[in-house]
Amino acid sequence: MNTERKAHKRALKVAFFSAQPYDKEFFQAANQQFGHNISFFEARLSVKTASLAFGYEAVCAFVHDFLDEPVLMKISDTGTRLVALRCSGYNNVDLDAAERLGMTVIRVPAYSPHAVAEHAVGLMLALNRHIHRAYNRVREMNFSIDGLMGFDVRGKTVGVVGTGAIGRCFCDIMRGFGCKLIAHDPQPNPLLAAQGVSYVSMEKIFTDSDVISLHCPWTPSTHHLIDAEALVKMKPGVMIINTSRGALLDTPAVIDGLKQKRIGALGIDVYEEEAGLFYEDHSNEIIQDEMLSRLLTFPNVIVTGHQAFFTREAMRNIAETTLSGITEFAEKGACQNAIVPKK
Ligand code: NAD
Repeated sequence: MNTERKAHKRALKVAFFSAQPYDKEFFQAANQQFGHNISFFEARLSVKTASLAFGYEAVCAFVHDFLDEPVLMKISDTGTRLVALRCSGYNNVDLDAAERLGMTVIRVPAYSPHAVAEHAVGLMLALNRHIHRAYNRVREMNFSIDGLMGFDVRGKTVGVVGTGAIGRCFCDIMRGFGCKLIAHDPQPNPLLAAQGVSYVSMEKIFTDSDVISLHCPWTPSTHHLIDAEALVKMKPGVMIINTSRGALLDTPAVIDGLKQKRIGALGIDVYEEEAGLFYEDHSNEIIQDEMLSRLLTFPNVIVTGHQAFFTREAMRNIAETTLSGITEFAEKGACQNAIVPKK
């Protein structure tokens, strides 16, 4: 009886937005041990769909759910006290508004940094050796290798922007390739420095790197970090990999850089205007997004649809960490994964 009462006290009603079949599979499996009452909604959270959260103490949201002040006010008015992000980035939440409304926002700080770092490396290798093009050629019985020449990764200078959880894994992998690693981060990691990663200015990242991989968050200070001004400083033929957030790149400037052959290759898992496109099947529609359409015409560009995190291990961690955070909040009214707005 006691156990039942305790279990009931710890269970929250959770409105789960942007639910995909794989979310349901992993969250339902993990929820066996937590017993929350989860309702899965396919809709993205926005001011139009916020009423679905009526009476839910917790809202579980993903990268394209939009939690600005009007949305937060709406869900707070109808009983939501906790926003549980099932991702690490939190640029889609107005944290100050959440604080004013007395809402707690939690996230999954690191579910599998390896997954994202490995995807970044995958994009780099595929672009370098033109594997996406070779795959198509061979399927057409075209075995010509003309135009598929790459470079030895060994010995190249790789610039890593952001050496948190993912950037550190990326450095570990690239060290194995025998690259020279330079990095920029306002909070350098002494462990990486001891392993031979040189912390340098952004200027030096731009001027010295053969490959630049972005692993920093999207904030006002990193918005359009790679713009026209940065691009002119880079080595001609530089390869740029972005698995962090789309708006780190000024997309029109990058398209210009590709047209002028200043950028040798571009691998992106994220795109400035991805919300409303990524995670959905638009194959029967006419795409209205001119920038994405243009990007897809370049032979030296690979776009993936925000899937860098998508491994079994990461999904298991995401589900367990999110649900255990919700339980912690239910028990203590606080959570160690809560995001505190920067003052
Ligand atoms: P993290 O918080 O562990 O590390 C981020 C690092 O960036 C920190 O060390 C921080 O000091 C540094 N940083 C902050 N501002 C910087 C700046 N101006 N220049 C350089 N470095 C700066 O985060 P993480 O788990 O490594 O994730 C990094 C980013 O990856 C997230 O913010 C998110 O946007 C993105 N991400 C993408 C996917 C995906 O599936 N594509 C999945 C998870 C995370």
